[in-house]
Amino acid sequence: MSSVARKTDEQLVAWAHRLRLTHTRDHLQSLLETAMAAQMAPRAVLELIFKSEVEARDKNRTMLGLLSAHFPKKYLLEDFDFDAQPGLRRGLIDELAKLEWVQTGENVVFIGPSGVGKTHLAVGLGVRYVQNGGTVRFYSAASLLALLEKAVREGNLSQKLAEINKPRLLIIDEFGYLPCPASSGNLLFQLIEKRYEHKSVIVTSNRNPSDWGVILGDEVLAQVILDRLLHHALAVPIFGESYRVRSNPLINRED
Ligand code: ADP
Ligand code: MG
Repeated sequence: MSSVARKTDEQLVAWAHRLRLTHTRDHLQSLLETAMAAQMAPRAVLELIFKSEVEARDKNRTMLGLLSAHFPKKYLLEDFDFDAQPGLRRGLIDELAKLEWVQTGENVVFIGPSGVGKTHLAVGLGVRYVQNGGTVRFYSAASLLALLEKAVREGNLSQKLAEINKPRLLIIDEFGYLPCPASSGNLLFQLIEKRYEHKSVIVTSNRNPSDWGVILGDEVLAQVILDRLLHHALAVPIFGESYRVRSNPLINRED
């Protein structure tokens, strides 16, 4: 490479850096080589540069979004076996996967016994939303309530609620698996109230909404929470067989 060309490339790298075109900055040589090898016209060169920059940013944003969502595992909707859950209509999940309900702040509640795929579907929808550019945060109900209790003790509940409510989609997993501490109804109400008709929640639970009063130790608050949560919500009951049991070769299902 001539010294003039090297100087020009250094200048291009500096400009790309200033424009925060980090992919272009870091891959300038290979982009130029690709363009030269294919004898690209100016329009095609611009297309190559812009497209690779956009793709790199989308990939980066998705990766960071998945990290900050704190999913327990990257369950995908594509990996869900609908034949194993004949009571659940694929069309319903396909409809949810379009994520229109997140735009309008509606909620989804998956209800059913352990192992039927509630967490898988909740995370699958969350992953899809992150891939579409959305913000998601996953909590187990127990860890979310513990976090709120701690914020009360430390006197920063309102900041904590604001922080938890930032993502457009909040997933509260396994509500009702563990008994809730006494103030849970109140804390959960404050959380749900702030999101009402504005930012979506997915809740998964092994207990029917009619039992939530018992779980929270407060029938009135449970009713108020459920009113908010279920007013614009799709409740998805899944009452098939546990996938864990089904796929365990040690269990002879003919017995
Ligand atoms: P739940 O939250 O209802 O207790 P999970 O979503 O945790 O159940 O599912 C338990 C395990 O079984 C997970 O590894 C999940 O990926 C898998 N699983 C459950 N249902 C299905 C299904 N229909 N197709 C594929 N995997 C499934
Ligand atoms: Mg689960």
